[in-house]
Amino acid sequence: MEYVEEGPYRFRITRRGTMRVPGVVFASRELLRDAEMSLRQVVDVATLPGIVGASYAMPDVHWGYGFPIGGVAATDPGDGGVVSPGGVGFDISCGVRLLAADCDRRALQPVLHPLMDGLGRVVPRGAGPGGVWPVTGRQLERILRSGSRYAVEEGHGEERDLRRCEDGGAVADADPDQVDRRARERGLGQVGSLGSGNHFLEVQQVTQVYDESVADAFGITAGQVCVMIHCGSRGLGHQICSDHVRLMEKAMARYGITVPDRQLACAPVDSPEGRAYLGAMAAAANYGRANRQLLAEAARGVFRREAGARLTLVYDVSHNLAKTETHQVRGEPRRLCVHRKGATRAFPPGHPELPDDLRAAGQPVLIPGTMGTASYVLTGVPGGGAFHSTCHGAGRVMSRHEAARTTDGKRLRARLEGDGIAVRPVSWRGLAEETPEAYKDVDEVVAASEGAGLCRKVARLVPLGVVKG
Ligand code: 5GP
Ligand code: MN
Ligand code: MN
Repeated sequence: MEYVEEGPYRFRITRRGTMRVPGVVFASRELLRDAEMSLRQVVDVATLPGIVGASYAMPDVHWGYGFPIGGVAATDPGDGGVVSPGGVGFDISCGVRLLAADCDRRALQPVLHPLMDGLGRVVPRGAGPGGVWPVTGRQLERILRSGSRYAVEEGHGEERDLRRCEDGGAVADADPDQVDRRARERGLGQVGSLGSGNHFLEVQQVTQVYDESVADAFGITAGQVCVMIHCGSRGLGHQICSDHVRLMEKAMARYGITVPDRQLACAPVDSPEGRAYLGAMAAAANYGRANRQLLAEAARGVFRREAGARLTLVYDVSHNLAKTETHQVRGEPRRLCVHRKGATRAFPPGHPELPDDLRAAGQPVLIPGTMGTASYVLTGVPGGGAFHSTCHGAGRVMSRHEAARTTDGKRLRARLEGDGIAVRPVSWRGLAEETPEAYKDVDEVVAASEGAGLCRKVARLVPLGVVKG
């Protein structure tokens, strides 16, 4: 793939063929070394009807279903713009929640192992059913409509949590009628569960603070213990994605849409198929948020019992979502459908959608790295690119299959434990698939994101213990 360097950590793929906009890739040359397949996907996304600005890729970009993971694309509904389920991904509203404990590492160390055992016991994980909150069909309906808000109303959390959640813990516009029976069946028994492999609940320690005043506004300090939770909408989201990809595949011809890859199936935002998907997607997003709320509550209980510590929510943000947002395009405000897939929204200081206590600091951006290296807290910056988006993790360099082939799960656990990281896996293979070597260097990904002007570093955290899905 040919590209030109057009600024620090910024490369352009010039518009050609059926591309409607150029491709813009934020990365270093080193990070782009094996990115051929995902850059091809950046080009394919650039052909979508109504796409605005550019087809963007974040420094953690890697191959995904249709869209690359680490891809951002905004479309204009007023100009035939489409919505594509592949631009959100199968794990709708997968995201990260960070909680800060009122203790530091030294205080926690003597109880770390019983604490990790406790967390390992209460957190349902792995593929298949199991969740901390068994719900009825009617309760599921409420979750689909009001996400974390409903969970808190039912006693699973505190009112303040909602202020520290993207969208106050619930996306408007959810349309549970668009969520089919099969998706509901799959969702019913999994409320409050991690899922597999890449999902985790990790106990971390803040080792470095880059901006004291922003960290202070977020509620984190050097030395503090934190809990990071990464999970999504489980089988419910997956089923919704599959169902709506199929519906759109059938509908595309009717709208005269052709795409270079069937996995880019899409429909106009303003069409029955587009609206149906967005309504179902919003319902799954609410499910994902309730899911993280429930797991945070489970972790709070264990921290209270085992460590006598309290967990306060720093923020909850998803990295797989399409949202209607207003952005300046050539000096004009336009309502756009912004797809972020493996990319995190990063609102700058002063953004009207931020709660008062975060207004001056900007939006907390939560970036998991790996269970053996580090994770980051970032914040949005004024003028941030790609419709205020940045990376979402380190990003894979090795397929799950390759990681499992080259890694012995038991040996990996011994290595991590040797480094002082307590590991509670669900399977040896699952653990091996997530070996730190399977991911890019998170320090490099974050440096590229910051260098490209997408965000700013606030704090770096290292793992003390991980409960792996
Ligand atoms: P994804 O949403 O693409 O599955 O994963 C997001 C990111 O989570 C990955 O790119 C990877 O950097 C990170 N990640 C995966 N497993 C772990 C883990 O066990 N601990 C931490 N801290 N990060 C992880
Ligand atoms: Mn996920
Ligand atoms: Mn995720």
